[in-house]
Amino acid sequence: MKRIGVLTSGGDAPGMNAAIRAVVRKGIYHQLEVYGIYQGYQGLINGNIKKLELGSVGDIIHRGGTILRSARCPEFVTKEGQQKGIAQLKKFGIEGLVVIGGDGSYRGAKALSEQGIPCIGIPGTIDNDIAGTDRTIGFDTALNTVIDAIDKIRDTASSHERTFVIEVMGRNAGDIALWTGLAGGAETILIPEVEESIDDIIERLHRGKERGKKHSIIIVAEGVTSGVKFAEELKKRTNMEIRVSVLGHIQRGGSPSAYDRVLASRLGSRAVELLLEGKGGRAVGIQNNQIVDYDFNEILDVPHEIDREMFKLSKELSI
Ligand code: ADP
Repeated sequence: MKRIGVLTSGGDAPGMNAAIRAVVRKGIYHQLEVYGIYQGYQGLINGNIKKLELGSVGDIIHRGGTILRSARCPEFVTKEGQQKGIAQLKKFGIEGLVVIGGDGSYRGAKALSEQGIPCIGIPGTIDNDIAGTDRTIGFDTALNTVIDAIDKIRDTASSHERTFVIEVMGRNAGDIALWTGLAGGAETILIPEVEESIDDIIERLHRGKERGKKHSIIIVAEGVTSGVKFAEELKKRTNMEIRVSVLGHIQRGGSPSAYDRVLASRLGSRAVELLLEGKGGRAVGIQNNQIVDYDFNEILDVPHEIDREMFKLSKELSI
């Protein structure tokens, strides 16, 4: 293999740049030529492809977002779209591809691998919703962003003795809500993986009030319901002063944490090694601090699970 490509796809995540940097530098270290494919699979179809040098990825390890930019590309779900992409790869002489993204992006990479272009997936999403890896790139940074916001909201919540509902991201996964709820000392954490009755939540709020609690923080994962709707319901049923904060896209931005930069560097490096070993159709990940890799088929369609012990702990600590 002489020439490889790298692209970022789907939702962006802090640390993607550190992963791109690792792929480019590791590739060049092993005498490969590395091409950047801009705007995900859309850019691949359009031939938006440029050679990257060592300097092309200088000064980006600390930057959020992705210098290759990202896109959603419905056309790539079709065979015709994929064939157009493959034609571009052939035109540029690119023999293998590193795809940084979430499980949608993995499906595209799997399709390419099955059609003769070896691809390696790197988990890049703040949602931590990819099976086979303990962490995805961007998750740790997003947690810190959310915690920073919760701490600030807590200041005002306690001054005014209010209950705050804070809606966090995560798509269909509750990891961001669970981790930040535990780290932020939330009274209640609502996640899609566990059903909660509103009666229980209200009872807990009343219990807290009775023992003199001045404020409450409720974290709602976007995969359960909207924070606004949930707060409306609570207001109707309790007559309490309830405020809502929807954190939104600030969770996707910002300089990546040290953890995410190191993770991205390790995963990027391993992805290139796998291509050099002649492997494709696989994704890299981290398990018990060891870098691992597995076939796309082993992880796609595996339902996401949260850490049940951690959820139990969050309940125990917020009685
Ligand atoms: P993420 O990678 O963050 O999960 P998406 O689900 O939006 O984000 O997927 C990103 C892109 O991956 C899509 O816009 C599409 O181009 C490609 N993709 C998604 N699903 C498939 C599929 N089944 N086959 C081929 N490509 C796909």
